Amino acid sequence: MSVSHFHPHDPLALKPEDCGRGHACQFCPQEPECRLDKGHHEKRVLESRLEQIGQIIMVMANKGGVGKSTVSANLAAGLAARGYRVGVADADIHGPNQSRFFGFVGERVRINQQGLSTLAFTHPALQQPIRVGSLAFMMETDDTPIVWRDAYKHDFMHHLIGSFDWGPLDFLVIDMPPGTGNELITLSDLLEGHDVAALLATTPQEVALMDSLKAIRFCQERGMPLLGVVENMAGVTCPHCGGEFHLFPRAHLAEALDQAGVSSLTQIPLSPALASGSDRGQPIVLAEPDSIEARAFMPAVQACIDQARDSFAAAAAHSLQSLHQGQQGTADIEAALAAVPAEQRDALRAELSSLLGQARPDDSGNQH
Ligand code: ADP
Repeated sequence: MSVSHFHPHDPLALKPEDCGRGHACQFCPQEPECRLDKGHHEKRVLESRLEQIGQIIMVMANKGGVGKSTVSANLAAGLAARGYRVGVADADIHGPNQSRFFGFVGERVRINQQGLSTLAFTHPALQQPIRVGSLAFMMETDDTPIVWRDAYKHDFMHHLIGSFDWGPLDFLVIDMPPGTGNELITLSDLLEGHDVAALLATTPQEVALMDSLKAIRFCQERGMPLLGVVENMAGVTCPHCGGEFHLFPRAHLAEALDQAGVSSLTQIPLSPALASGSDRGQPIVLAEPDSIEARAFMPAVQACIDQARDSFAAAAAHSLQSLHQGQQGTADIEAALAAVPAEQRDALRAELSSLLGQARPDDSGNQH
């Protein structure tokens, strides 16, 4: 039978057009009868989401319980307090905590044409709410244990980034599951080609440290920028005398980080106020912004902002470079320069040259 025997409107044929929905087919009421190309749709949903997200920060730890979720929540709060549009994606599929840390226990997501709704955490210090997306919002009860097969883990990572309606964001902070297993590899693959950097949470104990070195090696092998380490539970202030002491010796950690070429960004003390703020759904960075604990998060917040600026500058330089390499681009730049008053032209040309990192022709066509 030749191809021409098929009716042009064969109901089983995959149609190239997309339905325009902002979520995966799995959540769609029309999925059973849909004949559109589902693979194409899933890819498009993920790409259109990522296009609207600036810098992605993966908060990693190789061990549970070291404070990775606490760091993620306070990092997000610190970035939002600086006026950035921030989302928090809870990818810790075995113990999703962000719903608790932002006061959303028991809340559930809604689905509409744009995708799964994120929950908006508001605070008087924030110009814009923090958008929180978590698997916990999709479960029947908050204490349901989740048993995952690897195939579902892959789907979940895809849905978390693609199906949630994040809107435009400057930062998406991802609270990763502990370890360097499948979830990390899946997510790193999905985010390949986007501005992603990692931040590592650890405690100074040796066992957490040994595990953390695996995560450092993962980043180095993947070529993923590692902003540094947040040392959590590092030091305690006595509530009675105000004296400081360390439960775990730090010297070994400092030496190992040095050898691995990774910097320690900050040390967060072990603090009841920090834990109770998290339990009340109020990150301490917003609840008590002048406290020692809140201030301890600031170097990590600043490292994320610096990384985002560097990524932006690198992307801008790359675009200018591409523009410079194309003949048409050069003509466009020269046409634009011609419109600038003559006395400003040379200065502007010099500025463009330094941004492009290359010599540019002057008015006479000579290179300099
Ligand atoms: P992880 O995400 O690594 O499993 P969490 O951030 O959920 O760890 O922290 C585990 C528990 O320890 C939580 O109850 C949290 O409130 C508490 N915790 C984390 N960091 C600190 C700290 N610096 N001081 C006191 N309690 C903390």
